[in-house]
Amino acid sequence: MNATFPFIRLRRLRYHPLVRQLIRETDLHLKDLILPLFIKGRTGEPKAVASMPGHHQIPLSALPQEIEEIARLGISSVLLFGVPEHKDALGSDSYSDTGIIQEAIRVIRSVTSQLLIITDVCFCEYTDHGHCGILTNKDVDNDKTLELLARQAASHAKAGADVVAPSGMIDGAVQAIRAGLDGSGFSHIPIMSYSIKYQSCLYGPFRAATEGAPAFGDRSSHQMDTANAREALREAEHDVNEGADMLMVKPAHTYLDVIYRVKQAYPHLPLGAYHPSGEFCMIKAAAEKGWLDEKKAAMEILRSIRRAGADFIITYYTKEIAAGKWLE
Ligand SMILES: [Zn+2]
Repeated sequence: MNATFPFIRLRRLRYHPLVRQLIRETDLHLKDLILPLFIKGRTGEPKAVASMPGHHQIPLSALPQEIEEIARLGISSVLLFGVPEHKDALGSDSYSDTGIIQEAIRVIRSVTSQLLIITDVCFCEYTDHGHCGILTNKDVDNDKTLELLARQAASHAKAGADVVAPSGMIDGAVQAIRAGLDGSGFSHIPIMSYSIKYQSCLYGPFRAATEGAPAFGDRSSHQMDTANAREALREAEHDVNEGADMLMVKPAHTYLDVIYRVKQAYPHLPLGAYHPSGEFCMIKAAAEKGWLDEKKAAMEILRSIRRAGADFIITYYTKEIAAGKWLE
């Protein structure tokens, strides 16, 4: 017998909503989502980020209230970005015990011990030139940056960070940070590496929020060319060999092929994807014009990122999803 139409009817599995639910391959849970937070200043009111509706630069004084709300919504993880009051050539606030992120971690810990605190480890928010490391001849000096990256990560761990996330695409960063953490008594702290981060225009609104746009030039000497996918596997391989505990691809929706390739190549490593500010604000803007159903569009896109192979997603939609119960 030929197992084809009319004996086989694929629509049989689509009639009953509970059958559709039963055979659904990809699900999203709130525990899979990480909420990024921007911390700036000690006192005052949260300042809205115009191109990222619903997101603010949050001063330390307003952080307890924000964290209480996040905890009440059942969100389990945050990713912290700090905007220091003082920027310099070395980004020294990033590894100061009294830096903006170190203070923020302590504030969060004073509110709850239940929230997973992940910290961004890079220099672009902290340097006066806006680049992701120390400069020599107007280019990021890879090897000089490594030592300070290790120092920054250890400082975050000392303040109470649970996971550190190097985002600068500096060669050898994972190895240097691992050594720095281990040497400071933090061998138990995992590294979530931005293994494959593209030189993408989709970080524009984020740079407004972190005030970390480069003062000159761009990041094409360290971030990956948006035209490349095979090269992503080399980047991932290096991070795996250097001891990355989790891998990540950024952006996400526009790089589903890369997420898929990395997951196929490293199925046993947890893989994250960063749904960046540009991908977030595209949905927001279309919804504002009434051109897209925001909830449906956001959930379809986030589900596609999971379907491609991401185990978890960093998304600016986390709070709305939790508050609006979009997963139910
Ligand atoms: Zn950076």
